[in-house]
Amino acid sequence: MSVAVATECPVCAGMVGVPGDAMMGELLDCDECGSELEVTQLTPAIEVREAPMSAEDWGE
Ligand SMILES: [Zn+2]
Repeated sequence: MSVAVATECPVCAGMVGVPGDAMMGELLDCDECGSELEVTQLTPAIEVREAPMSAEDWGE
């Protein structure tokens, strides 16, 4: 288990827990509003944005 950190949801401004081992592009769900969020930055601070609604598979 890794230490989780929290960041602010860009949609509802609620706190979103992010796993300490989160990767760029990892998708998370906001507990507050249910939005799907994508990790866009890991350092110096984790940032997330609302994930595209598209179900397209972007591949590797
Ligand atoms: Zn939210």
